[in-house]
Amino acid sequence: MKWTKALIQTLRENPGDAEIDSHKLLVRAGLVKKMAGGLYTYLPLGLRSLKKVENIVREEMNRAGAQEIVMPILQTAELWKESGRWDSMGPNMFKVKDRARHDYALAPTAEEAVVDVARSVISSYRQLPVTVYQIQWKFRDEIRPRFGLMRSKEFLMKDAYSFDTSMEAADGSYEAMYEAYKRIFSRCGLAAVPVEADTGDIGGKSSHEFHVLAEAGEDGIAACQCGYAANLEKASRRAPAREDESCPEAEVVPTPGAKTIEEVSRFMGMPASKFVKSLIYMCDGKPVMVCVAGDREVNEIKLKHFLDVASVELATPADILSASGASAGSVGPVKPLDASMRIVADFALKGAKGVMVGANIDDNHIKNVDLARDTKIADEDYADLTIVAEGDICPKCGAKMSDKRGIEVGHVFKLGVKYTEAMKAVYKTKDINEEVMVMGCYGIGVGRTMQAIIEQSHDKDGIIWPSSVSPYQVVIENLDPSDAHVTEVADRLEAELEAKGVDVIVDDREERPGVKFKDADLIGFTVRVVVGAKGLSNGGIEVKRRADDKSKTKVVPVEEALAVILDSLK
Ligand code: ATP
Ligand code: MG
Repeated sequence: MKWTKALIQTLRENPGDAEIDSHKLLVRAGLVKKMAGGLYTYLPLGLRSLKKVENIVREEMNRAGAQEIVMPILQTAELWKESGRWDSMGPNMFKVKDRARHDYALAPTAEEAVVDVARSVISSYRQLPVTVYQIQWKFRDEIRPRFGLMRSKEFLMKDAYSFDTSMEAADGSYEAMYEAYKRIFSRCGLAAVPVEADTGDIGGKSSHEFHVLAEAGEDGIAACQCGYAANLEKASRRAPAREDESCPEAEVVPTPGAKTIEEVSRFMGMPASKFVKSLIYMCDGKPVMVCVAGDREVNEIKLKHFLDVASVELATPADILSASGASAGSVGPVKPLDASMRIVADFALKGAKGVMVGANIDDNHIKNVDLARDTKIADEDYADLTIVAEGDICPKCGAKMSDKRGIEVGHVFKLGVKYTEAMKAVYKTKDINEEVMVMGCYGIGVGRTMQAIIEQSHDKDGIIWPSSVSPYQVVIENLDPSDAHVTEVADRLEAELEAKGVDVIVDDREERPGVKFKDADLIGFTVRVVVGAKGLSNGGIEVKRRADDKSKTKVVPVEEALAVILDSLK
């Protein structure tokens, strides 16, 4: 390809809406063009990288034995109503009508569609296990589309679905996808780590997310040196042992005007960890008091699982008042107004004595509280309910964990029978019994992965593409396009590289070398080759990997250039 024939536009200015480096670079390198928030055109260079990521995904899915299909994006409401997700997806799902006023969804994911296929195509145990996948556009009305391709309204997703005869057999399909994911991200030049994850709205038994660790990541991850890593939504910890000394009788103390833990702790001259923070949540419509140490935050997902409820929401001021007898700043577990209200507490509070709690009387607290002595919180009301923080103890090995940020590029779920049961996807066993198929689902954001590569691999000058996903692996800078000899050498090299299966672009623009090099660095082609009249008369051609600094530039005779370039791509 010749640059002068290619549709390439590089920009010097960062786009105004870009907060993270990869978003800025995507736009400045001319890989994508924004249409509106969360909607992007892939320009030729961007599409080339996207297709390369897509092909790696496809090859590894095929290698793992998955079979490619394509399902409609436009999906009937009836299908989504069968699973109950027509309503539960809420405003995240785009809904449209046809001319006959029938309802459709623009698929945000495709469990329903694939189960509909499975239940009609699969009838016998002989056809199982089977894994199918598609690489198809998905639509989500994200509350806050941002970060370019990372969180957009329309995005390319690889979604795979496995069907098995049993939970144990489904573990095998899950493992195969997990291994395929490791290969995919490594072939993309990405360091992606598997992280234990919550099963979210999809539900099910076990789940891992693959994260690219980056400051710009939207997800918090707790990680330990022993290899334990979990999304903060799910991460657990070992509760530190308590050796609280027994305390005198509880005593109400006025704390006028002090509402937050910080204010009360300043007022009393006691550290926040000596306080119990008590929050009232409405859980499936009923008030539940949740107690955690004053310096910790409630993990609402853990709370939801522990209470086994469908919804948890912070209570309104009116509900707080009627449940506790006080307003938010003075709530506590000692005799709240609603004596029937369930009180649960974080397991790190078990055995807490001499702590301070809200008195359920406005502007009052109680000191010297012994939770076992003074409250109705029983053994079974203690659970791991807080968000893990930097320095917490690893549940696996006991060392201290650290907080990291990650970009979720892929997700593997063991779904169990959630959809197959609701939608009656059954097969006949050997003994002609009917059994429900066991399912797994496995997503990769193809565009998000492409952008995560940029986030992980760039410098101040631009992108540094790994060879496997670079829009062109090699750029040949023809510094003297009007010189017939230089052009002949450059074009011959282009042809030779192409014959070896290498993607090449020749920058044949009549521009200053500085301008051309700046563009090459910005777009980030893996290898840069410089062919110019001066160079040729002084010994040859310059070859430099984008990732290397100038000192590693090689000057090689024309006849050796091909071998050196091929070597630089490895
Ligand atoms: P997130 O928590 O980031 O919203 P999710 O849990 O909703 O992700 P899944 O439903 O598991 O994501 O989708 C599979 C994959 O699709 C994700 O791992 C991610 O790579 C990608 N993805 C999800 N939402 C978007 C989006 N709005 N834009 C781009 N890619 C997305
Ligand atoms: Mg999401």
